[in-house]
Amino acid sequence: MLNSQIQKNLSGLYEGFHSARIQASSDTADWEELQSKGREIKEEVINNLDKYLELLESKILSSGGAVHFAETAEDATQYVINLAKKRDVKTVVKSKSMLSEEMSLNEELTKNGIDPYETDLGEYIVQLAEETPYHIIAPAIHKSRSEVSKLFSEKIGTSDTENIETLTSEARDQLRDKFIQADMGITGGNFLVAETGTLALVSNEGNGRMCTSMPRIHVAIVGMEKIIPSMEDLGTFLRLPIRSATGQWISSYVTMISGPRKSIDVDGPEEFHLVIVDNGRSKMLANPQLREALYCLRCGACLNACPVYRKVGGHSYGWVYPGPIGSIVSPMLTGLSDGKNLPFASSLCGACKEACPVKIDIPRMLLYLRNELVEGNDYPHQRTSKLWERLLSKCGAFILANSKLTNTLMKSASLIANIAPFVRKPFPASWKKTRESPALAKKTFVEQWASLELDGSLRKKD
Ligand code: SF4
Repeated sequence: MLNSQIQKNLSGLYEGFHSARIQASSDTADWEELQSKGREIKEEVINNLDKYLELLESKILSSGGAVHFAETAEDATQYVINLAKKRDVKTVVKSKSMLSEEMSLNEELTKNGIDPYETDLGEYIVQLAEETPYHIIAPAIHKSRSEVSKLFSEKIGTSDTENIETLTSEARDQLRDKFIQADMGITGGNFLVAETGTLALVSNEGNGRMCTSMPRIHVAIVGMEKIIPSMEDLGTFLRLPIRSATGQWISSYVTMISGPRKSIDVDGPEEFHLVIVDNGRSKMLANPQLREALYCLRCGACLNACPVYRKVGGHSYGWVYPGPIGSIVSPMLTGLSDGKNLPFASSLCGACKEACPVKIDIPRMLLYLRNELVEGNDYPHQRTSKLWERLLSKCGAFILANSKLTNTLMKSASLIANIAPFVRKPFPASWKKTRESPALAKKTFVEQWASLELDGSLRKKD
C-alpha cells in the first residue's frame, strides 16, 4: 500500500473535499435541478459541437483574437512553440492546465529554449519536484509539509521552515519576478461561451488572472468539449463544478476574457490566441457509448469519492488523468491498448456516478470498455493466460470456496508474515518507493467480527 503519509493525505481528500461537496450540495436547494440542467446543456453542446465551435470561432475572430484548431497534442504544442519563437518569447508563465500535461508542454518548451513556470502553488511544487500532478484539482496532495519545505530549500534556497504561510510567501516572491519577466501567459480554460466568444477561468489563487493580463501574449489551450452555448448557461456551470470540487459556494476568482486588449482597456495582452484541441476527443464523440465522458467538468469529485483512487493514489494510473473518469478518458486519448488495465481498476461501487455533478455514468462506460477489451482479444483474459496463472486462479477459487480453509490459511499467513517480515516485502524497489507493507492483523476478519459487541440490528448474538 502507499506510504502512510500519502495515505493520510488521501484520507484528507475524503474528510475534506468529499464531505464539503456533500454539505454544499445539500445546502443548495435546487441541486438536483442544477445537475439535470448542467447535463442537458452538455448533451446539447456535445451533440451539436460543430455548430457551437463555428459560432465561438467567429466571435473570437471578430474581437481580434486568433483561433487554431489542433487535431493532436503535437499540433497544439507546435503552434505554441512557433508563436513563442516568432515573438521572441523567452519566459512563459502558466496557470493550471491538465491539457498542457497531455501535451507535455513544459518539456517541449524547455527543449526549445523557452522557460515555463507553473504559477498555481500545487503545480509549482510538482514542477520543482519534477513530477506529474497527483490529483485533478490538488496536484501536490501527496506531498507533506516537510517534503515541500525540503524541496523549496533544495530547489529555490528558501529558509528551513515548515510554516505554510512562510512557504507560500517564498513561492509568491519567486513567482512575482517570473510574472514580470514573462512575455507569454498560457492558461487552460474552464468554459468557452459560444454566443459571446468568452473564455471563463475559475481559480482560487488569482494566478490565472495574472497569466492572462500581465504578459503581452495570452494563449489559452482548451479541449473542444469545454464549450457551452450562452452566458446564462455559465451561471449554471459556475456553481456545479466548484461546489463539487471543494464545496465552496463559488471560486475566489472568475475571470472572463473576450479577445486581446481594446483601445479603451488600461491593461491586458496585446494578442489573444485560443488553441482548441481534439487529441482523441472526436473518437469519444463518435462513440455513443462513450460520448458522455465529454461532459466532464474536471471537478475531481469522482476521485475523492473513489475507494480505489484513495488507496492507489494518482500516479498509479500512469497518465495525466487519474481516478474513475481517468480510467475512461486515458485509454480513449492514448489508445485502448495502452490503457488496457485502467477500466479494470474499479470496484464498480457507483460512488463516482453519485458524486458527479453532471451524473456521468462512469460504471456503465467502464463495463463497456472492459467488454471491448475482452471481446477484442486485446486483454489477456482467461483463454490467453499462462498455465501458472490458470492454476493459481483455480487454487484461489478452491480456497475461497471453503471458508474453514480460507480462515486457517489467513491465520497462518498473518503469523508467518509477522514473524518473518520479508515475506510481506516481496516487491521491487521502485514499487516500495511510495508504498509500504503494514503488519498483517493478528486476528482474521471473521475473528474480529465474532468479538465485536454490536447491537442486535447489526448482528444477532446466539
Ligand atoms: S466525471 Fe464528473 S465527478 Fe469526475 S471529474 Fe468529471 S465532472 Fe467531476
